[in-house]
Order: sequence, then structure tokens, then C-alpha cells
Amino acid sequence: MKIKAVRTHILQAELSQALACSRGWFSTRTAMLVEIETDRGIVGWGECYGPARITAAAVEHVAPWLIGEDPVRSDYLWQLIYARMRDHGQKGAVIQALGGIDIALWDIKGKYFDAPVHQLLGGPQRTRISAYATGLYRRRAADPIQYLAEEAAGYVAEGFSALKLRVGFGVEEDAAVTRAVREAIGPSAALMIDANHAYDSIAAIRLGRMIEQHDVRWFEEPVPPEDIAGYRAVRSALSIPIAGGECEFTRFGFRELFVMHALDIAQPDTCAAGGLSECKKIADMAEAFGIRYNPHVWGTGIAIAASLQLLAVLPPHTRPSLMPMAPILELDRTEHPIRQAILVEPLEHVRGVIQVPEGPGLGIEVDRKALARFVAR
Ligand SMILES: [Mg+2]
Repeated sequence: MKIKAVRTHILQAELSQALACSRGWFSTRTAMLVEIETDRGIVGWGECYGPARITAAAVEHVAPWLIGEDPVRSDYLWQLIYARMRDHGQKGAVIQALGGIDIALWDIKGKYFDAPVHQLLGGPQRTRISAYATGLYRRRAADPIQYLAEEAAGYVAEGFSALKLRVGFGVEEDAAVTRAVREAIGPSAALMIDANHAYDSIAAIRLGRMIEQHDVRWFEEPVPPEDIAGYRAVRSALSIPIAGGECEFTRFGFRELFVMHALDIAQPDTCAAGGLSECKKIADMAEAFGIRYNPHVWGTGIAIAASLQLLAVLPPHTRPSLMPMAPILELDRTEHPIRQAILVEPLEHVRGVIQVPEGPGLGIEVDRKALARFVAR
């Protein structure tokens, strides 16, 4: 089998209302999909997290190296691209592009061997994955305490046992919102907070101390990803577990975070950190360092499917016993017109639990008509 063509698809959709995290407002959702076609008629799909036009340019730059190669040799091809691009992109869009390509190669591999990716990655530890609701973004509405508390209670009513709140809007306001959300969801649902690296370690520690009483499951990206010393300071000052890693890339990037014990929970994005091949390696490394692995997920059904295939094979956080604690899926509940529309069969949760796709490859089928509706001009 040989690779015949590599195509990129830049998709875009307007949102009905703008949303904000601490980094700013956004009113559109974009996606960058990678399609790899083989001479056997098998087509594989991948997705790149990151700025769509930059990742598309990076995929198109390396695509000629893939033509004529055997797509089953995914590790060899990963290393070939990484080595040729090393001088120009050990992190960021080049690795995001490589990740999208790698996911598409795994989709092909699974279809070629007629097996879901998780079978080829080592076999499933689990076939049903608990999801947490990601949402609770800011809207252009009057009182965030009121609308965020209502939104949070809605996720619990839907069946989610865990949810994640955006913070990074000022320490006092964050503390008030965290308290309101905890009161709205009651004591049993898990509550995580995500600052999207809004703070320095001084502000992050101050916020953490103000909200420790609200039983926060993790504090995500308290400080900028480059500030490893800041991560360590926040982690040692607080009893709340510290999470991060959606802005880190490859085993080489995570090696630094792990050796420095900067995190309790690593969150590589499968579509950003280097794809399924690389994230499996990062996950194995995380286990060796005693660090939990919960992937960051922010994309279409392709990103969700790839994440589910990986989550199926990850070791439990706590050793196998009657009640092992398993890694969980980040399920973005904010508006995303493209997310499920491009799948022939959407990947939906039931009471906060989602089934790992069992079909060959990623286990999904892309709806080309739907794809065409979202092509960016
Ligand atoms: Mg995050």
C-alpha cells in the first residue's frame, strides 16, 4: 500500500454568540482536517489543533515526502517528518501538522487491518469512557455568576459527574464564580478550573488558596506554559492538583515537565502534541513518572474519535482493583456547528459516558456533503 494524495480541509463556522476564555473572545469555530488517500482506495482522516491556515501550510509543505510511502510505517514517517523539520518546528504548528498526519495514518492502518485503532495500540483497557463537560465560558450577558451557575447545574442534570469552569478574569471574581458554581452543582460533582495561563504564580497561588475549600479536582494552566518554575511554585503551595500540557508538544517537551515534577495531570492534545503515536509514548512516560494523563480535546468528531481511541488503551490512574480510577474525556459542550455535523454517525454521550468507536481505524465515517458546507473561503 502506498500514499497517493494528502489533502487539507480548512473549515469554518460562525457562532450564534461570542464566547470568551481568559485569552479573549471568539465568534467563529475553525477546524483543519487532513485526508490521506492510498492506492488501495483506503482513505484516512486526521485533525490538527491550532491555527488552521498555518497547520494546513505545514501539512502541505511536508506532503510531498509522504507520496509513495507505505502508510502503515507510521513511526518511521513521524520520525522522517520530525527530523526534516526539527530546525524549524520542535513545538507549535509544525508538530500540530505532524499530529494530524499521524492520526490519518492510524485511521488508514486500522482500516487496512480491519481493526479499531485501540486494538492496534495494545488493546482496550475499557470500552466506555466517562466524560467531563467543558464549557462555562464567558458570554456577553449581564451577570456571569448567574448564567455560569445555571449552565453548570444544567450539565449535572444532563448526567455529567464532572465539569470545568473558565477562570482567569481576576482573582476575586474567579473565587466568587467558583463558589457559585460549586453551590449550584452540589458536593458530589467534580469541579475543575482552567485559567488558560492567565496568571503568574503569585496570583495563581492567591486564587488557589481562596478556592481550596470548594473541593477543586484540578487547577489547569495556572501560569504560562514556559514558566516551569511557576508551575512548581503553584503546585507546592496548593493542595489542589495542578494540570497542564495542552500547549506542550512531543515526548521531548513533556520530558522536561515530568523530570521537573511540574504537573500532577498531563493534558497533551492528541491533535497537537504529535498524534496518536506520540501521545501513546507521552502517556507511557507519564505513567513512569506517576503523573496522571487526561487528554485535552478541542475539535471536531475526528479529534474526539482519536482521543477516545487513545483513552481506551491508557492505564488507569490508580492500580487495577475493584474500583480503578480511569482517565476521562474532555467533552466540549460549547457551540461548534462543525463538530458532529461532519460525522455520518455523531459521537454522543449518554449521561456523561461515551462509547469507544468499534469500527476499523478511528471508527468514524466523514460526511463529505457536510464538509463542503463548512469550507472556509
Ligand atoms: Mg485548557
